[in-house]
Amino acid sequence: MSVWCPSCGFESPDGAPWCDFCKEPFGKKPKPAPPPNPLAGLSKEQLLELPAETLLKAEEPPPPSAPPWLRPLTWAMLVIWLALGGLALWSLHSRYSEQHPPAPSGSARPLPNQ
Ligand SMILES: [Zn+2]
Repeated sequence: MSVWCPSCGFESPDGAPWCDFCKEPFGKKPKPAPPPNPLAGLSKEQLLELPAETLLKAEEPPPPSAPPWLRPLTWAMLVIWLALGGLALWSLHSRYSEQHPPAPSGSARPLPNQ
């Protein structure tokens, strides 16, 4: 007699603590069933009497829950990155201006005809 792995279907000797192929442990409890739908026990007549919002809400998955500090933290990170980017651009620009001073305007430039 042998046991079949519920995960991969590999046949392992009886009494093996886990699957010989994928090492899935045997005797593990199956995954808990999802919470029952509160509308499942209702009859069709009862469902028809419910407002449409109730049915829509029951079918919609719950919105992803994020910690309340995540949103301000995200904005703070964005602002910090923007500030760092601006600072880097300004630093590059000032360094470029030092190496390439702007051409003096007016009489300093020699005219081609003179
Ligand atoms: Zn397996």
